[in-house]
Amino acid sequence: RDRAIEQLLAGLDPEQREAVTAEPGPVCVLAGAGTGKTRAVTHRIAWRVLRGDMRGQHVTAVTFTARAAGEMRDRLRGLGVAGVNARTFHSAALRQLRYFGTRRFGGQLPELVDSTLKFTAIAAARAGLQTSRAKNYDLTTEIEWAASSLIGPDDYVSAIAAIGRDAPVAAEDVAKVYAAYIEAKRRAGVMDFADVLAYTADLIDDVDAAADQIRSQYRFFVVDEYQDVTPLQQRLLDAWVGDRDDITVVGDASQTIYSFTGATSKHLLDFTRRHPGAALVRLVRDYRSTPQVVGLANQIIGESKGREAKMRLELIGQRPDGPAVTAEVFADEAEEADMIARRCSKLIADGTSASEIAVLYRTNAQSQAYEEALSSYGVPTVVTGAARFFERAEVRQAVVALRSAAKTDIAQLPLLEAVPTALEAVGWRPDAAPSGGAQREAYEAVAALAALAEQFIEHHRANPDEEGPEPDLDAFCAELSRRASEQHAPAVEGVTLASLHAAKGLEWDVVFLVGLADGTLPTTFARTEAALEEERRLLYVGITRARVRLQLSFGLARNSGGRERRLCRFLAPLGLGGFPRPPAPGETTAKQRTPKKAKVLNCSGCGKTLTDARDRKLGHCDDCPATMDEGLFERLREWRVTVAKQGGKPAFTIFTDVT
Ligand code: ATP
Ligand code: MG
Repeated sequence: RDRAIEQLLAGLDPEQREAVTAEPGPVCVLAGAGTGKTRAVTHRIAWRVLRGDMRGQHVTAVTFTARAAGEMRDRLRGLGVAGVNARTFHSAALRQLRYFGTRRFGGQLPELVDSTLKFTAIAAARAGLQTSRAKNYDLTTEIEWAASSLIGPDDYVSAIAAIGRDAPVAAEDVAKVYAAYIEAKRRAGVMDFADVLAYTADLIDDVDAAADQIRSQYRFFVVDEYQDVTPLQQRLLDAWVGDRDDITVVGDASQTIYSFTGATSKHLLDFTRRHPGAALVRLVRDYRSTPQVVGLANQIIGESKGREAKMRLELIGQRPDGPAVTAEVFADEAEEADMIARRCSKLIADGTSASEIAVLYRTNAQSQAYEEALSSYGVPTVVTGAARFFERAEVRQAVVALRSAAKTDIAQLPLLEAVPTALEAVGWRPDAAPSGGAQREAYEAVAALAALAEQFIEHHRANPDEEGPEPDLDAFCAELSRRASEQHAPAVEGVTLASLHAAKGLEWDVVFLVGLADGTLPTTFARTEAALEEERRLLYVGITRARVRLQLSFGLARNSGGRERRLCRFLAPLGLGGFPRPPAPGETTAKQRTPKKAKVLNCSGCGKTLTDARDRKLGHCDDCPATMDEGLFERLREWRVTVAKQGGKPAFTIFTDVT
């Protein structure tokens, strides 16, 4: 055991060791990106288990995404520790609620809704409000923000006035809809994501027996990415920890990027005040990135203001020199996507593993151009982002169709036949869908679910404990529900496409940061100083994901011939080689590189000139009647042939989990 502990500590620097071997009690590690915070917490868990303080089962480690939780379990297993409850807040709470809380709800836990939009719409109608889809979306986001910030409908108006928050919709209307929303959920007997956390905290606060059981099971708490905790999550954490106060938190206030969900770095910055006697550890050595990447990261974040800036320490790169950070301007976004896809394919041909490459962007809407460009070079992709797979409208529709088919004769078919048959039965046929865009989305949903069905069967076959008949549609639907509630879809090998938000905590050898134009990053929606500061932190998070090679880029125009855009304002002053120099006083931007004239391309069906980037990639207009049906039908037929063979692996894009 002593040797194991010695080995464990050998892989740490003196400050990390201090954090790992602090006596039981509150510990706070405040440090920049890539300094080994996540490594420190995993080692601290291992150290305490190896030392005999407790078993792995007594530890709860909260991380930000299901993927990060999985990585933490893997790392711990590598350190000889099993059984740790490494989860997201949501999944840890849901588990306790299912286990301890059912009795409190009369034996039947409210059903978890995977999308709250529907209830906002009902609530808005009840409150007598004229809304649109966009307005309902704004209302939903605002209600979720309020719930995460522990603000109820009655105090909403005064609370946002007190903090000077601009509501997206008139504050009185939000309050009205918010109250009706709570009522609509109650009537339907459902709970949303915030309820899961709130109910669990209530359970511990109000039911002594549940509190005793939970606290004797979970004794030591660890929180990674603590800078992005919401007041509601903090409330749950307080309930969990109780007065034993055995909690280790690690975070970097410069990486606070989830303010829009109610997250705030105040919990991190106030930790030592709330926990007097807490051990405070600072780390400054950056083990992740080359000095070239670290230098740029320091420059970007060095300009930021605010309370956390005062506490920041400059990162010191520990890795050997690497290639210079490169910067490139393309004529438009289509050219940018094409060139980057070509580079990825070259890197892979030269021996870089696809899973060591990431393309990171500001908004999920940017992913499609890269998915298409990479697939046109035959490069597999893994998309991870805030557009949660199971929340996509077309996926939800498909899942509903599968569930209803599970009650019919279709359920008797082998699963791989049942899935397409069930979807065809509700009219998801290429020749029946109304428009090109909708057809493609439907097709993608079908394809992704088919791939999931295959994986499900494979898993079943590979798992010796679960022998028996092949799983059927019913079992598959149950599996889909489980995945939807855990926000979890399978990962595959491929180039990662992710939003900057989804990329936090992760690292790759090669990172392409794309679309770095003002208006995209920072987004045009960032109008206040605080919102702009958050955009700067987002750029910092992106830069610090790269281990060795970092390429920054943007397209001058959005579409070919479109209006010229400017470089991201946080990068412009740095004068990076490759990026257009900012105009000197008196000089006009016309001297910047003008967009290349795009080649004229015509639709293969109707002959119309193609201007839209996506159409140009397709080679025909999006919904050209001459090409569309046949193309899609062909793809679906191919897929069905593969499925019929039951062995083949169609190259689908699989969407993975997020928070
Ligand atoms: P982020 O803020 O992005 O979450 P982090 O502070 O959590 O970063 P880690 O992911 O723990 O950083 O570590 C970054 C990289 O540096 C990892 O690849 C990790 O294995 C490596 N690393 C950390 N500490 C050391 C060390 N003492 N010696 C060698 N490598 C280290
Ligand atoms: Mg980390």
